Amino acid sequence: MSDEIPKSAPPKPKSHGRLSVQASLTPRDLMADLRVAGAWRAKVITLFPEAFPGVLGLSLTGKALDLGLWALETIDLRGFGLGRHKNVDDTPAGGGAGMVLRADVLGPALETAAYGTPQDRGAWPVIYLSPRGKPLDQAMARRFAAGSGVTLLCGRFEGVDERVLEHYGVEEVSLGDFVLTGGEIAAMALLDATVRLLPNVLGNQASTEEESFSVGLLEHPQYTKPAEWMGRAIPDVLQSGHHGKIAEWRQAQSEAITRARRPDLWAQREKRKT
Ligand code: SAH
Repeated sequence: MSDEIPKSAPPKPKSHGRLSVQASLTPRDLMADLRVAGAWRAKVITLFPEAFPGVLGLSLTGKALDLGLWALETIDLRGFGLGRHKNVDDTPAGGGAGMVLRADVLGPALETAAYGTPQDRGAWPVIYLSPRGKPLDQAMARRFAAGSGVTLLCGRFEGVDERVLEHYGVEEVSLGDFVLTGGEIAAMALLDATVRLLPNVLGNQASTEEESFSVGLLEHPQYTKPAEWMGRAIPDVLQSGHHGKIAEWRQAQSEAITRARRPDLWAQREKRKT
């Protein structure tokens, strides 16, 4: 645990979900309360804390947040800004367009986030969402879910001072090969992909074992009622009730789709087999 209290009085981080309503716990919430104690936690450093929990507050991730199966804390970067105007950025050294988030603003924010978290980056990764990062994938989400939490740094403008990334051992993760205006949407995507893998968040645990990427394949097509729509029928085999044949059909479809759409995934899979 990091026991160094940041020197400047940090702005109070804002909690979402169960942790923010602990004062009003009723006895029937005891079970949920127990889960909160060891719950997986996310700390998000951002200039836009009001963007959170956003979509993460809805549906399964939102219900899990309310139940205390995970906890979300936002840390407002503006609060660490310098001077009367709370400046967080300045012009790039060496010239060029845009603004860069300052190391002496990001540093105290990261120190505040580190308070009470394991120093071991394996147990608690510190991540900067960045187009230069390793592309987010299912294996990464599994690794993050296996730890006790994450700290996410959302960039804005041209990005952050490089020295901060070096000094704090920050891992860079990208949402994909495109440029967003800020790290918040990428942070939400990372959290959604991770939180749904935490125990008890999805009603049906088996569904994460069969879905796309879990075995290096894309998912087979899915159908539901009505049996016929716009002249299109559901494939006969799915209505046959023959579980063996259905599994075989789904496997063949998964393989064909992966091969056609993602030759890179298919090649990796073939390589693993040899
Ligand atoms: N000048 C930078 C882009 C800055 S975009 C460059 O060319 O690499 C502003 C912020 O948006 C970044 O600091 C980062 O936090 C976020 N961002 C942009 N694209 C992203 C992506 N593909 N994945 C994750 N975060 C991204």
